[in-house]
Amino acid sequence: MKIGLDIDGVLADSDPAFRAHLKKLFQRPFPKKDVVCFDYQKCFSLSQDQLDFFWDTFTKQGKWEKIKIMPGVKHFLKQVKGKDVTVITARPIELQKQTIRWLINNQIPYHQLIFMSGESKHHDVLLHNLQFDYFVEDRFEFSKDLADLGIMVLLLNYPWNLKFGEYKNITRVNNWADITKAVLNK
Ligand SMILES: [Mg+2]
Repeated sequence: MKIGLDIDGVLADSDPAFRAHLKKLFQRPFPKKDVVCFDYQKCFSLSQDQLDFFWDTFTKQGKWEKIKIMPGVKHFLKQVKGKDVTVITARPIELQKQTIRWLINNQIPYHQLIFMSGESKHHDVLLHNLQFDYFVEDRFEFSKDLADLGIMVLLLNYPWNLKFGEYKNITRVNNWADITKAVLNK
């Protein structure tokens, strides 16, 4: 069995870390319920300079490595031990070092780590001929492209993907307990 995993919002509980940093920088609330689109700049009406300042300071302060692992990930990985796990992230390649360190520090075993090369993840699936049985994602746009290739996508529910509703080959899940059930009951 081949399993594909996203990092931010899936393996890593990134959204609370991003919003906590936004709150610290701009001294105003950044509630989860307001993240109704994938773009913080749009959702929170940030200028390009503010957004750049946010990512720049997040990186400079070493915060990528401090993001918490999502509850249930460890248990899932134990259950699927020996299966082919590939991680595909939309993070920029500049974050490779921090990303690898985070995966090592959180003891997440993987066969391959891919930094998305195009504007969506299905390009890399085709490029590397990755025949995933499952892919776990939190962004609907990527999920849809993967689902169109016939991959069973498990889409973690978040305020930014709820508006898209149902789609063929996409199963909505609420947490890693749901993901574990879906993958192991195959
Ligand atoms: Mg993500």
